[in-house]
Amino acid sequence: MDMGLKGRSAIVCASSKGLGKGCALALAREGVAVTLNARGYEALEATAGEIRKATGVPVTVVPGDVTEPAVQRALLAACPAPDILVNNAGGPPRGDFRAWDRAVWLRALDANMLTPIELIKATVDGMIARKFGRIINITSITVKSPIASLGLSNGARAGLTGFVAGLARQTVAHNVTINNLLPGSFDTDRLRGGMKEAAKAASEAYEAVRARDMADQPAGRFGTADELGAACAFLCSAHAGFITGQNLLLDGGYFSSTL
Ligand code: NAP
Repeated sequence: MDMGLKGRSAIVCASSKGLGKGCALALAREGVAVTLNARGYEALEATAGEIRKATGVPVTVVPGDVTEPAVQRALLAACPAPDILVNNAGGPPRGDFRAWDRAVWLRALDANMLTPIELIKATVDGMIARKFGRIINITSITVKSPIASLGLSNGARAGLTGFVAGLARQTVAHNVTINNLLPGSFDTDRLRGGMKEAAKAASEAYEAVRARDMADQPAGRFGTADELGAACAFLCSAHAGFITGQNLLLDGGYFSSTL
């Protein structure tokens, strides 16, 4: 299927690894010029090189913490009229809410709610004027099915989801859609880090925790960044202009519900 994206441009935040990289690669395979971002320069450059080699599309890198206004400005300077914006950042730490002070909450809100909103604010009117725009926010299964130890994620991402739900209905008449991707368990550094922490806390072997978590998955496996990237590319495609304000759960059936 031709996604109708050849020649388009995208800003993909937090994309040197994991799910952001999956989105960048999938878009680049459709002929989209991508602007990548992450804090670690070496991994960012390596991913940029990999995507250039695999797809031949122009790839620009903007190193830095995406929650910093200067980095957001640099992203917009590198890609001033993006057709596609993929909002993503690292997930907040796990823990007990009694241990979180205001500063911890503000960091989570910054990364998983306010930065996406700032970048949407900076790009959406240009998309409306050009009559094409696709905004994707990588959120989490925790928006639908909270995980107690991920209270920072449950809270911050629910805030973004509520904001997007209103705006997505205002932009769709201009062929600008806004949708959220809700990953369940995907085999990335983030997931592996969580399993390592759990193994350490329970004095268990990492492999044992990994095998048990995988056995809990109805699919019998974790998702791959390529799978999430493919869903992102479809929602960004020319064919997806009638899909907006949706929360697409990609979890291999882990969250059990009828609707
Ligand atoms: P990952 O494999 O750890 O990759 C995170 C990427 O984001 C890296 O490229 C990292 O590079 C970059 N990054 C992190 N913080 C950043 C920041 N402040 N500014 C710029 N770049 C930043 O994580 P992932 O699994 O892809 O997760 C992506 C998002 O999905 C996270 O918010 C996570 O909580 C959420 N999520 C993941 C899963 C899962 O199963 N994997 C499930 C639900 C939700 P640097 O560290 O070099 O900056």
